[in-house]
Amino acid sequence: MSSVPPVSPDPGPTIEPVLASAVQAELPVNEVARLAALNRYGVLDTPAEQAFDDITTVAAALCNVPIAVITLVDEHRQWFKAVVGLDGTTETPRSVAFCAHAILEPDQILEVPDALDDPRFARNPLVLGEPNIRFYAGAPLVSPDGQALGTLCVIDRVPRHLSPRERNALASLARQVVAQLELRHLVADLSLRSTTDVLTGAWNRRAFDQRLAAEWNRHARTRSPLGLLMIDVDHFKDFNDRFGHPTGDGALVQIVQSLLQPLRSNDFLARFGGEEFVAILPDADATGASEAAERVRAAVEGTAWTFHPLTVSIGAVAAQPEHGIDPHTLVAQADRALYRAKQAGRNRVHLFERWN
Ligand code: GH3
Ligand code: MG
Ligand code: MG
Repeated sequence: MSSVPPVSPDPGPTIEPVLASAVQAELPVNEVARLAALNRYGVLDTPAEQAFDDITTVAAALCNVPIAVITLVDEHRQWFKAVVGLDGTTETPRSVAFCAHAILEPDQILEVPDALDDPRFARNPLVLGEPNIRFYAGAPLVSPDGQALGTLCVIDRVPRHLSPRERNALASLARQVVAQLELRHLVADLSLRSTTDVLTGAWNRRAFDQRLAAEWNRHARTRSPLGLLMIDVDHFKDFNDRFGHPTGDGALVQIVQSLLQPLRSNDFLARFGGEEFVAILPDADATGASEAAERVRAAVEGTAWTFHPLTVSIGAVAAQPEHGIDPHTLVAQADRALYRAKQAGRNRVHLFERWN
């Protein structure tokens, strides 16, 4: 007698499971421009914010539904900026997203009174399974340049309709979502402008002051060294005198590219003023700062200059926590070292060791 149960050659009749499948929305005709517009807002994957949470709360209450979502349609997913009634869900594949259909008509609310009656959604996994969508209404979030970024949508688990007043109010709230996105974008843009040097695109003096304070705190807390380079273009007045100020401006733009090239990604380069630049080198000790300075100097010297070769002199310094100095002193020390590099003949690096 065998202990292995006999294998039936005929498994008997099987019941076909009802396969959940979504009818995927077409891509909008302007999909590339639409994604570019969405990415300009820099909102994807940002943390929750009260202003957006408030809008979904109001939308759910207004339409008397359990679920409301601000969703943004990314290339392969819809991502939720704010959500009421869907605990823990932050995104779904675009292939199953109702909103991917809604954005195809930016100037209309897509209303689905009963998803089971709609061939586009009847077998959608979000209908047949959690969250068991039956009713959906999505108002497209339309950017000022006409791109549908996503929707403000309200969802119920039972079939229903929106009244004309509810539809109008949902559309108004969708405009408020876009107004919030615009506001955040403008503030971010302004703050970038206020910390960027207009001519060269490098960080400006204000950004440098902020970053130095932050890096100084980190240096004090973690007891890691902190390097600083003060960089000055040699004989730049002569260059301007010979080739003109506009050409000098162009050279400063090129200088920034050359200075950035050998720096690490977490180093921080700012225009300190005029033809002077400053680099913060987190974790760099005296040797590290000297070596970085030498690489920077060599990068400028090795640049293929159109008009006339340019060089820089660099004062380098590294603070160790035990030195017990403050950030202003660090800058002054780098400046002193720069002075020494100039005195010694320019196109060279001097490491600060003492004041005299
Ligand atoms: P040194 O080697 O001693 O540094 O000589 P230098 O000529 O570079 O130094 P100086 O301080 O005498 O002159 C700096 C020059 O940098 C003069 C100024 O016109 C020029 N400069 C400062 N900012 C700008 C700018 O934004 N554009 C242009 N084109 N030139 C600038
Ligand atoms: Mg100079
Ligand atoms: Mg100077």
